[in-house]
Amino acid sequence: MQITVDTDKCCAAGQCVLAAPDVFDQRDEDGIVVVLNSSPPAEQHAAVREAAQICPAAAITLS
Ligand code: SF4
Repeated sequence: MQITVDTDKCCAAGQCVLAAPDVFDQRDEDGIVVVLNSSPPAEQHAAVREAAQICPAAAITLS
């Protein structure tokens, strides 16, 4: 799994951080998403898929 985020789309909602806190974080200054691990291990894939689904801005792409 490879994670790509479009920071231009991100509206800093933080849903991804709640769903997968080991993979996503937010910048302190504006809350825009930061990917901590763009190719996470298998045990985190379900949480990452959930994060991508619930992101209100559809800013997370998985491949
Ligand atoms: S859930 Fe989407 S919009 Fe919210 S911080 Fe994460 S990437 Fe950005």
